[in-house]
Amino acid sequence: LAVGVAAGMSACAPAGSTAPEAEGDDATTSCNVGISMPTRSLERWINDGEGLKEKLEAADCTVDLQYADNKTDQQISQIQNQVAGGAKILVVAAIDGQTLGPALEDAASQDVKVIAYDRLINGTEAVDYYATFDNYKVGQLQGQFIEEQLGLADGKGPFNLEPFAGSPDDNNAAFFFAGAWDVLLPYVESGQLVVPSGKSPADNDGWKAIGILGWGSDDAQAEMDNRLQSFYTGGDKVDVVLSPNDSLALGIEASLDAAGYKPGTDWPLITGQDADVANVKAILADQQSMTVWKDTRELGGQVESMIQAIVAGEEVEVNDTETYDNGTKVVPAYLLDPVVVAKDDVEPTLVESGFVKAADIGL
Ligand code: BGC
Repeated sequence: LAVGVAAGMSACAPAGSTAPEAEGDDATTSCNVGISMPTRSLERWINDGEGLKEKLEAADCTVDLQYADNKTDQQISQIQNQVAGGAKILVVAAIDGQTLGPALEDAASQDVKVIAYDRLINGTEAVDYYATFDNYKVGQLQGQFIEEQLGLADGKGPFNLEPFAGSPDDNNAAFFFAGAWDVLLPYVESGQLVVPSGKSPADNDGWKAIGILGWGSDDAQAEMDNRLQSFYTGGDKVDVVLSPNDSLALGIEASLDAAGYKPGTDWPLITGQDADVANVKAILADQQSMTVWKDTRELGGQVESMIQAIVAGEEVEVNDTETYDNGTKVVPAYLLDPVVVAKDDVEPTLVESGFVKAADIGL
């Protein structure tokens, strides 16, 4: 295809002359794509990576898909290998939003375009676009669900709340927490929500202190075990848990189960995100109250459109040019809409859309 035309011209341009813009909006790029995903340990990233690879290959792109086992160094060397192997577009779901700058700047110096996938990459110019779900809204939907289910706006309470936050190195986690905490903090301040563990950030910026590094279920379980054993000794019960996603929710649910909580009696309200199969089953079994569903097929479709625009040298469609300041630039973003799924929505929403197979969740 039109590989290297612009690069070739600039290479031949005499010193001191103005070469045509190497990768301007009108330059075309070959569809050679490196996809870098954080880990295979979470169902959503497997779906994300494989779904996107399939779509791009069907559109005749060359695709290299790598998973980095949640290790930043591994992700950096995978990205470097992809660029060395000829990738012209990188799609990166960062493990640590802070550490990829030098590798991506190196890629950008070779005219590689970078799309941040789902998670923003911070502190570097070398991020061209960002495709994600509205991360603040994810948290807001969790907060509003709790507000509605408990009747907080009608003055009900007090309820015992245990808040959790996501991985401190993941830029999304700040947005999830801020969205939820903007809804819930006023009720903590009014005394309708009480946090017996004291793990209650005074403002949105305090979330890292309750973040679970790496988003692991086991770590969330251990943290919940601690809170239950230390702060719920006198017969007090947890009424509600703010969990930012499904992997943490699973660990928290295992902890509640081990502590003797029973679905349908004293099991607390608990939130989640991703609609992972195990959590959808938990929703059907009354062990999780909701999940915020982000249709990863839709995100893949959006990224595919971005890639096709880049390849054709056309303008890339975005719908947000204000929110995602990475400390160096505001990254033009396309935000998709997350959706609340509670028990009654599982069939009509997740199964009907084909996101989850009825047989996989015992329906
Ligand atoms: C994603 C969530 C996911 C979490 C853990 C976040 O960046 O947006 O969907 O649950 O990472 O992998």
